[in-house]
Amino acid sequence: EKGIDLSITQDYKLAKDNELRFEVESNARVKLDLLEGSAEVFGTELVRSRSYIFESGAKIAVFTWFGCSVKLSGKVEASYVSKDTPMVIYLNTHAAVEQLRKSAEQDDIRGPRVLVVGAQDVGKTTVCRLLLNYAVRLGRKTTLIDIDVGQGGVSIPGSVGALTVERPADPVDGFDLKVPLVYHFGHTAPNGNIKLYETLISRLADVFNAKCDYNKQVKHSGCIINTCGWVKGQGYQCILHTAQSFEADVVLVLDSERLYNDLKRDLPDFVNVILQPKSPGVVERPREARRDNRENKIKEYFYGPRKIYFPHAFNIKFSEVEIYKIGAPSLPDSCLPLGMEPENTQTKLVQVTPGRDMTHHILSLSMAESLDENLIETNVAGFVVVTNVDPDNQVFSVLSPAPRPLPRKYFLIMDIRFIDINK
Ligand code: ADP
Ligand code: MG
Repeated sequence: EKGIDLSITQDYKLAKDNELRFEVESNARVKLDLLEGSAEVFGTELVRSRSYIFESGAKIAVFTWFGCSVKLSGKVEASYVSKDTPMVIYLNTHAAVEQLRKSAEQDDIRGPRVLVVGAQDVGKTTVCRLLLNYAVRLGRKTTLIDIDVGQGGVSIPGSVGALTVERPADPVDGFDLKVPLVYHFGHTAPNGNIKLYETLISRLADVFNAKCDYNKQVKHSGCIINTCGWVKGQGYQCILHTAQSFEADVVLVLDSERLYNDLKRDLPDFVNVILQPKSPGVVERPREARRDNRENKIKEYFYGPRKIYFPHAFNIKFSEVEIYKIGAPSLPDSCLPLGMEPENTQTKLVQVTPGRDMTHHILSLSMAESLDENLIETNVAGFVVVTNVDPDNQVFSVLSPAPRPLPRKYFLIMDIRFIDINK
């Protein structure tokens, strides 16, 4: 309970269908206790035997279906109780999706594939978490497909991935991320490399289909696809591409009537496009908050939540590994070899000679064992961050969640940098 100002406490009594919303101030922590009744945080039931400690920056809603009382201790920013929530609507959506899982099970066909879309800060990630939690509470094994490269939940920013959810999210730490399938993207927004982004989405769909072929429970449980808030222009094309690749059955549009109408027009009739309100509780995050979130996500990857781990630091000889960047600088059309389309350069591998400018960049270690495997479409074992490059001695230093030796030798370099201030 370090860092919690216990002199500040407040009890709240919540009537049925109400929620308590609060935010934790920066550099503060807040303790939540369930005193009476039942309550949940984004679909995970709270227990009375545990105190939940939320870290700075957390934005939380404690919702109750039947009424409860809770206590908050510590410095809370903006806490209030609201009865204005779309939780009943979301629960009905869950019930409808669950009905599709039941039919899928009966007929042994693919379960529902739900694509969640909308602008930034409309609660997409939260709705995905809610739907996954409700499904797993019924014994389903639904897969989260996360293609939000900026604020994704499966791994660090600059990656996309899939995670089959087998237990509810922890109210504080979220889903258990021990065994996600992760792919390197390298940028915090899809327009960093659209062609690569779409390639990875198709790849994830193929991999998920393959998993459905050998695991019936996964097949019947379907998937929930979390997206980023880019819904205009090429972002919209990416949404269409995702719906097609995954053969989405349901597209859940949060808050945007315009997007809803466009999707209804452009998607085939058998796709069930539905418009739902956003929760008035969803908090808008300014640009800096998004950047801080990203940095925290990376920090957590190396140090664990609440810094419970310590990463390994070691040197790698230039000669031990090969580093590649995805995407060659685009050339004017007239310079391209005959028959090569300009966009092909976006998914070209270019070997990088390690130099000082690589410092602070994140590298993804590919699972590929040889270059015969397509590095771009091979999942990654994990990430390291370059902390120093010493060209004179032909070595670079990294921070890594795992000790030496490296299990593989091919790295992909990200545009994303992380400066480790814990050193
Ligand atoms: P999106 O994925 O659309 O950008 P999120 O689901 O990440 O939006 O929600 C934005 C922020 O709002 C998150 O920090 C989330 O924890 C918070 N949030 C979501 N729903 C609520 C709510 N009902 N009450 C309070 N905070 C909420
Ligand atoms: Mg999100």
